[in-house]
Amino acid sequence: MVTQTRECVGISEELLEAIQGLPLHRYVEHCGQKLQVSPFEFYALCPRCGERLKLRGFSGVPELEDVFDAVFSWMNQPGAAKFSEQRRALLESEE
Ligand SMILES: [Zn+2]
Repeated sequence: MVTQTRECVGISEELLEAIQGLPLHRYVEHCGQKLQVSPFEFYALCPRCGERLKLRGFSGVPELEDVFDAVFSWMNQPGAAKFSEQRRALLESEE
């Protein structure tokens, strides 16, 4: 059998568990108010004082959300939606 194999660069069980466990919302507190935003937002606006709050990209090192962005970018290429939908349906049926 001939198939393409990919090198697994730095993929650990911990990374996979962290991806699966990423909360659906990020909670930010400012001016005594708790905001609920997407985990992928880089910024949020405080509704009380209007300050723009930075939520991602604090250091030069990749963050967990960057892994999602890489996957989202992959999914944006033509033809990828069919495969990701098939895989998601299969994973959902296995849960
Ligand atoms: Zn505020």
